[in-house]
Amino acid sequence: MEARSRDSKYHVILFPFMSKGHTFPLLDLARLLLRRPDFIVTVFTTSGNHSFIANSLSDTTAFIIDLPFPQNIPQIPAGVESTDQLPSMSLFAPFALSTKLMQPDFEKAIETLPPVSFMVSDGFLWWTLDSAIKFGFPRLVSYGMCIYSSCLYKAVAERRLLFGPESDDELITLPQFPWIKVTRNDFDSPFTDSEPSGPLFELNMASLIAAINSYGTIINSFYELEATFADHWNKESGNKAWCVGPLCLVDAPRAQREPHEKPTWIKWLDQKLQQGRSVLYVAFGSQVDISPQQLKEIAIGLKESRVSFLWVTRAKELELGGEFELEERIGDRGIVVREWVDQREILMHKSVSGFLSHCGWNSVLESICAGVPILAWPMMAEQPLNARMVAEEIRVGLRVETCNGSVRGFVKREGLKKMVEELMEGEIGKEVRKNVEEYGELARKAMEVGGGSSWRTLDTLVNDLTCADR
Ligand code: UDP
Repeated sequence: MEARSRDSKYHVILFPFMSKGHTFPLLDLARLLLRRPDFIVTVFTTSGNHSFIANSLSDTTAFIIDLPFPQNIPQIPAGVESTDQLPSMSLFAPFALSTKLMQPDFEKAIETLPPVSFMVSDGFLWWTLDSAIKFGFPRLVSYGMCIYSSCLYKAVAERRLLFGPESDDELITLPQFPWIKVTRNDFDSPFTDSEPSGPLFELNMASLIAAINSYGTIINSFYELEATFADHWNKESGNKAWCVGPLCLVDAPRAQREPHEKPTWIKWLDQKLQQGRSVLYVAFGSQVDISPQQLKEIAIGLKESRVSFLWVTRAKELELGGEFELEERIGDRGIVVREWVDQREILMHKSVSGFLSHCGWNSVLESICAGVPILAWPMMAEQPLNARMVAEEIRVGLRVETCNGSVRGFVKREGLKKMVEELMEGEIGKEVRKNVEEYGELARKAMEVGGGSSWRTLDTLVNDLTCADR
């Protein structure tokens, strides 16, 4: 570090939150920053998250510092250092709040580093703002959300719009965006609590206040995708946002392997391509909880639809569903993968022509960049809002049909089969496919070196943040 610090002029700290979806975009950002002459990047994490970050950045000069993760936190099992290891997402808030105990070690480490030009830290690591102020460098926030969803949260919270309707499924029109309708079911606690309190509320408030008092927010999205919302946000909120993505287009290997070591699922996709079969990719992100009953219904629905499918499922889902039973119900048209995959590699495979997704923002962006239309099945957090964006705003996908029409409803095999077939072969499917291909093209243009909107935005932002040093 010292040798590099003598030659390098600008030093950026990146501090991702301990979940895969929040970490990947910042690792891609690390790569982008390291392409600039005179930049060094330090990534803060914990030892439990070190190896996957070190693997992802192994071909870069990024410096990684592990901080001890707080121990003996009530309800958090020993050794859990990442949200995808939590036994239940109900422990998310206590987990995130406990990170504040890392602050003394974080500050001790900063004292040993070269001067910091600026820091990008996750929204849930709100306490890093106090450290930034103490050491006198600007903090940018990264939430991993699009601006559309941020605008919708702001719109309902400011006017308490969720407390008018009598039922959770009643449509609410947003005065700020009169063409958009949401329901209370699109939101989680604490937004839906009339008298919010408790750890989740505490976390949200602390994160929000710190975000407002930070230099601004970087958004993993591109202006052309959500111009109306980016303009609205930058006019109406006190917290400036910069669209610098899609960061997944930064050429970054996520799995270290030799070219001859093709994983079985990629070989299977190659085979499907040769047979002229198009494949539906099915994945619900790194941390969604799905009931055993719903898992079975998905398996039967997929089996009964006429498409080939590749289903990547997380260990947590399997424990609930029962591995053997799940496999038995699927038949031979599909393949189930239980390992960590490079999702972008799958989406980019020429055989893949649809994505049944929980609509985590990274997954939505990766699908858009690959030109693959989405069958949206949101489950938690801001996913229902992302799903509205996908199906109603930019129209790059359809929604699964729940049995009672509610956002949170159970999806029966018939409803799933019907929508899978519509996405893969139907007329509306063709329309959304055309749209997603167009947005995919715009995404690539946004990231073009020199002229793309996201490239220019990041360039201006970085120049502004470092000009005091020049
Ligand atoms: N991902 C992956 N392999 C897996 C599971 C997930 O590469 O086996 C990546 C996926 O490509 C995306 C991220 O993990 O970049 C998940 O983020 P997202 O926002 O889609 O969902 P989350 O997991 O945060 O709910």
